[in-house]
Amino acid sequence: MTPFFSTLLGACIGSFLNVCLRRWKSGGNILYPPSQCPHCHQSILWYDNIPLLSFLFLKARCRFCDEPISWQYPAVEGVTAILFGLSAIRFQQEEKLLLLVASFFFVGFMVLLGTSDLNWKLLPHPFTNGFILAGFLSPISGAFFSLTDFYRAVSHFVLVGSILYGITQIIPNGLGGGDIKMGAGLALWLGLSKTVFALFLAFGAGFVVTAPLLWKKKITRKSMIPFGPFLSFGSLVVWFWPDIVTRWGMGL
Ligand SMILES: [Zn+2]
Repeated sequence: MTPFFSTLLGACIGSFLNVCLRRWKSGGNILYPPSQCPHCHQSILWYDNIPLLSFLFLKARCRFCDEPISWQYPAVEGVTAILFGLSAIRFQQEEKLLLLVASFFFVGFMVLLGTSDLNWKLLPHPFTNGFILAGFLSPISGAFFSLTDFYRAVSHFVLVGSILYGITQIIPNGLGGGDIKMGAGLALWLGLSKTVFALFLAFGAGFVVTAPLLWKKKITRKSMIPFGPFLSFGSLVVWFWPDIVTRWGMGL
């Protein structure tokens, strides 16, 4: 699949992820009712629902009530589009369509989890459960295809989950249950050494972003800082540039 087509597909999947996020919040299912404006509850017309473009044409306002449309929609669509394009570039030489599809799932879950944590400071169970299930089914972990890989995947899953659980016991209010599930799920997709590396990158990025805010007293030590977006960031770096793990001498 060409990077161009993958990018277009990514924009559409991003639009679908927006629906998932909105529906989780409002409690509806994914197919019904049709998308509505959260302010005036008018159904959104199909031509106002084109990823990225409609947001520009409508100048970020609802056609009916003129209330602003959240920037989250085009941001999720744009980021997903870029990550799908990157997936095509990264995996096209390997000529394994299955790997590319797995990458689409992985980056989609990273966007979904990162955005929910940013929005609500929590990682909803349906999303983390889906991520873990997809990890077991993916050709990356191989757990679904061979018993040896299954045992290895389960041991990585339990090990990373236990380490993160241990951290929550030492540092209360640090990580939540959703973070533990997401981290353990990552072990299925990235394996052990890359997951550890992704965690380091996430803690590092979290520190770089929150230290200045702490310094300027915009937040306090007791503020809830969502870890999911940083974990998504670290995982995506490791996903697309796995070489940095070995280059930094972390290859186990
Ligand atoms: Zn409206």
